[in-house]
Amino acid sequence: MLKDFVNSFEEVVARHAGNGAIAIVGHFNPDGDSVGSVTGMHYYLAEMGINSKVILPSSYPDYLSFLDKRSDYIVFTRDPEAAKAAIAEATLVICLDFNNLGRTEGLKDMIRESEAYKVLIDHHPNPERESFDLICSTVETSSTCELLFYVLMETKLVGNNIDNMPYNVVEGLATGMLTDTNNFKNSAIASTYQMASLVIRKGISLDDLGKRVFGSYSESRMRLMGEMLRNQMVILPDLGAAYMVLSKKIQQEYNYMRGDSEGFVNLPLLIDGVGVSALFTEDDDFIRVSLRSQGEVSVNALSNKYFNGGGHERASGGRLFIPVEEVPAYFESSLREFLKNR
Ligand code: 5GP
Ligand code: MN
Repeated sequence: MLKDFVNSFEEVVARHAGNGAIAIVGHFNPDGDSVGSVTGMHYYLAEMGINSKVILPSSYPDYLSFLDKRSDYIVFTRDPEAAKAAIAEATLVICLDFNNLGRTEGLKDMIRESEAYKVLIDHHPNPERESFDLICSTVETSSTCELLFYVLMETKLVGNNIDNMPYNVVEGLATGMLTDTNNFKNSAIASTYQMASLVIRKGISLDDLGKRVFGSYSESRMRLMGEMLRNQMVILPDLGAAYMVLSKKIQQEYNYMRGDSEGFVNLPLLIDGVGVSALFTEDDDFIRVSLRSQGEVSVNALSNKYFNGGGHERASGGRLFIPVEEVPAYFESSLREFLKNR
């Protein structure tokens, strides 16, 4: 099945390599899996002698900037004209790490209306199939980066030999695999460790990469984490849940930068009896929602129903359009209702 996809994919790429233009698109608020997978694809095509443009709907956190080696990834919110031009000229659009075009925010209508051939490689449930011409989608993988790793292993260029996979490709894909599994703490399966072993064979240290993406806190970020855990975390023992609200006021106090709260939502799950964790971050026009679970609660369904979003069974996100003060009551009542009706 994977081989069938790879055959079609290689044929499509070959068709657009000559007189076409290729755009590689990640999702809004790109994380390691998003930036890692677009990087892997970009450098695979480069190795094939094929130009492509990487387009991200919004900017990536600082700790991922090492992947954008030539600082030429186009960020829609920073340079909308360049992003629109790249989509307009594309004859092939490769979408990575999202299951519906809505996740490209400001670019969604343009991509939807574009007549370009559209490919999707992703690991979220229920992909929006009608929006794409060729799809490789499974939830049986740790990350889009892992899925793309095995796709590229099957290509003629790589021929199942890691020596033939360019270093920049492996580095990008290893980054997303590490961040989506939270350093092998969740959703790492046998194939993930097999990939890890090949990454190490390639000469990439997962210790160094892990240090780079998980262990390069600024002092203010570390103190913000302390503030959130000590003063903002609320436990709801009867619901087996915990939540934290990161208001604008706290963000200003701790010099908050994009990405500073990465991973915070996982921390309450370390507490015995906490199976669901939520982090609410006040943004300019909405509240960003981050949900995690362990055990059987589907935060994908929870987010679909109450938080205008979705994602995976145990990691999802969304948005709320209510004043920040109303978030605690809203979270508690919606989770209570959700658990009761399950
Ligand atoms: P995070 O909490 O790290 O921001 O997001 C966790 C997961 O939820 C991501 O892998 C992504 O797939 C999904 N996700 C985050 N935000 C949204 C959103 O606004 N809409 C949807 N559909 N999924 C989201
Ligand atoms: Mn992902």
